[in-house]
Amino acid sequence: MKEINAIDFEKEVLNGGKVVVDFYSTECAPCEALAPKFDAMAELYGEKIKFIKVFRQGNRELATELGVSSSPTLLFFENGKQVTGSISGGIKKSEIMERLDAMLTSEEIVAIKANQKPIVSEYDVAILGGGPAGLTAGIYLGQAKIKTVLIDQALPGGYMGITHQISNYPGFTDPQPGYMLAHYMSEQAKSSGIDFKVAVDISSVDLKKKEILIDELETIKAKKIIIATGTSPNPMNIPGEKEYKGKGISYCATCDAKYFDNKDVVVIGGGNSAVEESLLITKFAKSVTIVHRSDILKANKIAMENIMSHPKIKVLYGHHPCSFERQGDKMVTTIKNIKTNELSQLISDGVFVFIGLKSNVEVFDNYLPESDQWGYLITDEEMRTNIPDVFAIGDIISKKYRQITTAVADGTIAAITITKEV
Ligand SMILES: Cc1cc2nc3c(=O)[nH]c(=O)nc-3n(C[C@H](O)[C@H](O)[C@H](O)COP(=O)(O)OP(=O)(O)OC[C@H]3O[C@@H](n4cnc5c(N)ncnc54)[C@H](O)[C@@H]3O)c2cc1C
Repeated sequence: MKEINAIDFEKEVLNGGKVVVDFYSTECAPCEALAPKFDAMAELYGEKIKFIKVFRQGNRELATELGVSSSPTLLFFENGKQVTGSISGGIKKSEIMERLDAMLTSEEIVAIKANQKPIVSEYDVAILGGGPAGLTAGIYLGQAKIKTVLIDQALPGGYMGITHQISNYPGFTDPQPGYMLAHYMSEQAKSSGIDFKVAVDISSVDLKKKEILIDELETIKAKKIIIATGTSPNPMNIPGEKEYKGKGISYCATCDAKYFDNKDVVVIGGGNSAVEESLLITKFAKSVTIVHRSDILKANKIAMENIMSHPKIKVLYGHHPCSFERQGDKMVTTIKNIKTNELSQLISDGVFVFIGLKSNVEVFDNYLPESDQWGYLITDEEMRTNIPDVFAIGDIISKKYRQITTAVADGTIAAITITKEV
């Protein structure tokens, strides 16, 4: 591994054979998450591929020339030419290995993989999921000096990190950008002394043995596990949804509304999220058509008042979507009138789907804590599930209100309970 500046780029990278370059920055959480993985990859692949680091803020011109606009970004070169796509953001080990392997022969890959040694780490507590619930549990456990690891398949923050503005989290008079609140919480958790293993692949979780396998290589053994994996958006399961997911169909206005500047957008759903997110989309889009199966929208009073008087928003009640298709750069949503069965088509530039959430329990395979009829995990008042030493907190549990404040409360309760036992 070598750190270089722009002046050495030609010699070290363009004339350097097979090279991977990491453009990193300081004060960059995803760069910190990448650093140990990049080191491990350098050790494993270092004989065949050269590993180079470039400080992006100190080499801005070079970064711009190469189209690098965020940190970290990994670029892959062979004989002076970029090969395979670049990757950036919360980069997983598997994504790096896939690209490195593409630069090698199958014999070389087999030889490298033979050198990979399984790792076993032991902790008192493993927290699975780094949203507000998991981070809060981490803060309390770290401050109580309990050996804890927080594991997330993405970067920490959960939904908080992708929520545009959060106005109801106590302690701030002005609405906070969600990513900032996520940043504060995750820095606080890190400084409490717990370990972070984020942007990793969760290969398996054995709640009976209390073992979590990450990146197919590292086994984390814990005395107790806290499940804080939250929820995911419900899919519609209709033709065209899978094909156009991320290519015209989105489930996150904060992430994608900006791409619909002065465009026509269709929103599916009629609950709080659909209404609030539609309002956010109007900051960019020319028009928003909400398609809702019932005759009334169900959202908080202020959002309802805003939506009813909004000049860009139209609501189509009593309709549901049947399929999505693409025609050129337009999305065609076929909708059905529930009363008359009449079919019609909505032509738009993009579709957002907000039809509720489901609990993230897939990773637990067949051995799951008891859950309610909707798949949310049942806990007692100390956040214990029915499996010994397995706790659950946050949106994944069976409860009435799912908010950041309720998630942090659950995390607090589980951590204090555990602190008295470990
Ligand atoms: C669009 C939207 C806007 C919202 N606005 C507000 C608001 O303004 N105010 C408010 O208080 N609440 C708001 N909420 C609700 C709030 O965001 C949630 O209640 C809160 O984030 C729940 O926290 P959590 O930690 O339980 O789960 P999440 O925030 O969902 O975090 C779960 C974490 O677990 C990780 N994970 C998932 N599966 C796995 C796995 N198998 N292994 C490892 N990690 C995994 C995820 O990557 C994620 O980081 C909003 C929610 C949405 C969807």
